[in-house]
Amino acid sequence: MREFAWTEPASATVVALALLLGSCKPAAPPARARPVNLVLVTIDTLRADRLGCYGNSHIETPNLDRIARQGVLFENAVTHTPLTAPAHASIFTGLYPTVHRVRDTGGFVLQASHATLAEVLHQQGWDTAAFVGSSVLKKQFGFNQGFAVYDDEMPKPDPRKMAAGDYAERRAGEVVDRAVAWLASQSGKPFFLWVHVFDPHSPYDPPSPFREKYSGRAYDGEVAYTDQELGRLFSAVDKKSPPADTLVAVLSDHGESLSEHGEYTHGVFLYDSTLRIAFLMAGPGIPKGLRVKQQARAIDVLPTLLDLMGRPVPPGVQGTSLTPVFAGKPLPASEAYIETLYPKINMRWAELRGIRTDRWKYIRAPRPELYDLRQDPAETTNVIGNHPAEAQQLEAKVKAVSSDAEKVQTTMADQRTLAQLKGLGYLGGSSSQEYTLTGKGIDPKDRLDVLKALYLAVSPDAHSPASERVPLLRKALAEDPGNPTIYYHLGDEYARNGRAREAMKLYQDGVRNGLTNAWLFSRLAYLSLQRGNKEEAIGFFERAAQLNPSDNESLNDLGMAYLETGKLADAERAFKWSVAADEKYSLAYNGLGLVSIEKHDLAAARGYFEKAVQLDAGLLEAQLNLGRIYKIEGATAKARGCFEAFLAKASAAEYGAIIPKIRAELAEMK
Ligand SMILES: [Zn+2]
Repeated sequence: MREFAWTEPASATVVALALLLGSCKPAAPPARARPVNLVLVTIDTLRADRLGCYGNSHIETPNLDRIARQGVLFENAVTHTPLTAPAHASIFTGLYPTVHRVRDTGGFVLQASHATLAEVLHQQGWDTAAFVGSSVLKKQFGFNQGFAVYDDEMPKPDPRKMAAGDYAERRAGEVVDRAVAWLASQSGKPFFLWVHVFDPHSPYDPPSPFREKYSGRAYDGEVAYTDQELGRLFSAVDKKSPPADTLVAVLSDHGESLSEHGEYTHGVFLYDSTLRIAFLMAGPGIPKGLRVKQQARAIDVLPTLLDLMGRPVPPGVQGTSLTPVFAGKPLPASEAYIETLYPKINMRWAELRGIRTDRWKYIRAPRPELYDLRQDPAETTNVIGNHPAEAQQLEAKVKAVSSDAEKVQTTMADQRTLAQLKGLGYLGGSSSQEYTLTGKGIDPKDRLDVLKALYLAVSPDAHSPASERVPLLRKALAEDPGNPTIYYHLGDEYARNGRAREAMKLYQDGVRNGLTNAWLFSRLAYLSLQRGNKEEAIGFFERAAQLNPSDNESLNDLGMAYLETGKLADAERAFKWSVAADEKYSLAYNGLGLVSIEKHDLAAARGYFEKAVQLDAGLLEAQLNLGRIYKIEGATAKARGCFEAFLAKASAAEYGAIIPKIRAELAEMK
């Protein structure tokens, strides 16, 4: 049967408007005389069916519903992979993951060779700014390309409560505050603003009053809270740029399984629970209240937006513009390539690939699956036995997108960083991990017990008693002894309970079972440090750093271990490496300051400590070190400032021995 495209306008006026647009506009809109401002909002982990405009009457999402009423809603929108980084890379490049090569969240960097939406607009005179809600989109992963402002600063925990490091996410309210402040500073140049909010992602923990209002439905509460905050963003946008000059696009990066198909969050499977996304757009060129039933894909976002803005689409883009549908025209039948490498990389199971059309979902797995989405949108019945011809055709389409035995390589750093690291004498050869994608191995759907055990043992959303965690994970490990994720979490549990010996044995078993993950070696290193074996720790830290050259925490600890064993040149190399990976990592400057002190170069040390404090005034070691140097140099006022800053935040638990001494020194200086 031939598939045909159709759209369902919300009302008769919309039909008339669509016809009118169709009659007077060519398929590709001409370059607009006035440049359009673009606001792109990506909502992490948002299921389309949680929004009022997608038919949910139990969650209040008035602000997103308003966008849908003012513009178009794609009822059947999909992403290509249920993972944050690859999904965003497809949105920003219009390319499949096989081409942009970001294949998982965290081991891959969007390379500079790909033209992004931000780069295209920036080159054509748009002011560009991004505000992201999670550290998984930090600039080291390459998503900052083309953005003049890239705000990925996660909140710093109170140093009295927690050691150095940042939180992994920040609330939508904070992201929106920053974006609104940026909007207020804009002075008339056309702008492209990207706002990424992370709240619906696990753990589900909405703030009051959403926590109480959606009690027992924390995920829904996060969605309602996110909508409220986006409402503030949309009002600020309206004030700055009238709707006639502003294109607003809102979409999820992927959905959330919420226990459907035996999956609790996202990443393992390719069902619509996680592949289906919300996708709304409003602004010039878009008819009001249009609802499109035909499949729209994440790779279509870039060509559609550029088309609406009258800008050329970069060559090689795999998506197609959806604008014909705004003029009442059908779209050509669309096929979406889908994949997840998460099971392969994180679980050592088979990766999944497939094709989704308006009617079919084909999943290539050790036991392949085919679903008739029209008859069975919940994907409960695998009909591959009844439709061998369709499955074969769709398998051929998967082959056309991906090569047989494709090899993928994780890299934790971008090309610029890698070049800098090479300059430091590191990374002679390949330091990352390579995976061969054969589609063979353990079928993820045969490991539902492991997924459940992991969820119960690890997810804060499961609310399991602490005493059950270790038994759950041990049982999972017995069933699936090659699974790195189980080692990771079981080791964590051992560490939390002071069972260092068992943790060490577990990780050593992991190494024997062929695991070569950076975290495994850095944990072995910390356990060695705990046992006082610095030499052994150094060996493990070096392995960890080779595998993950942007793991600043390990690099810093490697530097400290070298420093404490008197190996100054090695310590300096480790701290410089850390700076190369992230020039804003304050602890590395503190380390370089300590190296300079050992080398009796006080001027250099002062420079490094000043830099550390400038980057993070809450880095107490650096405040203290800098104060000491100022004091030696006779800069009493500055020294006092540092000591006062130290005392204001130093906890008795961590600095009990030093606090009285510093108080005494301060008193002397007055
Ligand atoms: Zn995500």
